[in-house]
Formats: sequence, structure tokens, C-alpha cells
Amino acid sequence: MVQNNEVSIQEQLRDAEAAEEPGNIKAGSVVGNSNGMTMSASELHSAGWVYVYDTFTGDRSVVNRNMLPQQLQKKRENGTYVFTTTKPENEKVHGTIKCLLHETDPNRELYDSWGLAYCTKDNLTASHDLRVHMEKRHRREWATIDGENRAKEKEEEKAKDNLLAEAIKELAASNRASNNRRTNNGEK
Ligand SMILES: [Zn+2]
Repeated sequence: MVQNNEVSIQEQLRDAEAAEEPGNIKAGSVVGNSNGMTMSASELHSAGWVYVYDTFTGDRSVVNRNMLPQQLQKKRENGTYVFTTTKPENEKVHGTIKCLLHETDPNRELYDSWGLAYCTKDNLTASHDLRVHMEKRHRREWATIDGENRAKEKEEEKAKDNLLAEAIKELAASNRASNNRRTNNGEK
């Protein structure tokens, strides 16, 4: 868990988007950070500035690269990070639904046996998008998967019908048997 967080902070440090230097930093002025350390304006200038976004409100602020690691490690009381360098709009449009042809799909072994291709798409936002993606990008594969699903559904329906017919037959037989018993008892 801790390791994952460290990786994600490393990634965020790497992917941080460069920002304009804020106008209120004057030569010779000193800015403190959350750890009580201080940096001179020239140190801040050489490090450069990047944008961070509040993970709750999405508000953007500017942070010096020297202070970015501390800012990204800041947490709220509930344990979530306060800042991210990822734009919030991006986070919203990126879903987590994977293409059916993704290598982690539970039916992958079956699809392999049919010789279906692989796809790395893993950020679809809704099941509707998955359907559109399958129809547009994998027409042949989708026809195979969808066709098999329909055939399986039909088979299952047929099996259910057979079970029902069997149950009705048994019920009729047992009714007949008990009627016969009653008739026999009446004759005695
Ligand atoms: Zn795909």
C-alpha cells in the first residue's frame, strides 16, 4: 500500500504540468514550506513551478517543484491525498471497464481457443461504450462472441423448457397414480 502510494507520487512528480512562475515571488524574498524549511527566490526559480489540483474540489493551484513532494504527500483526515497533478476532467472521462478482448478478461481462455485478437483498451466508462467499442473496433470478434452468447442462451432456454415439460409430465403421472389409489380404495 505504502509502496503503491510512493509509486503514484513518483509518477505524479514526473507528469506534473509546468506552470507560469507566480508574479508575487520577488528576488531576494524567502518562501517557507510546510516543513518549516525555507528556500530563496533563486532556488524556487530554478526548480520551476507546476500545477496541482485539489482532489476534492478540483481547484488548481501553483506549487514549486521543490515543494511538490511534500504537497503531494499531504493527506486529509480521512487518509486521502489533498493534491494531485492529474487534471480532474481527465479523471472523470477515464473509466475502468476493459475491452472484452483484454488479456485479463475471465473468458480469455475461451476466446484464445476461438483465435480472437487481444486489445489493451481498459478505460471505457460505461457498458454502452463497451458495446460500441466492440461493434466498431472488433466487428468480427464481436459477431463471434455475441453469436455464441445467443446460441448459449437459446440452448439454456431449451433446457429450461425441457425441465418444465419433464416436471409437468411427472406431476400428471403422480396425479394419475393418486387418482387410481382413491378409485381402488373406493371399490374396496
Ligand atoms: Zn478492444
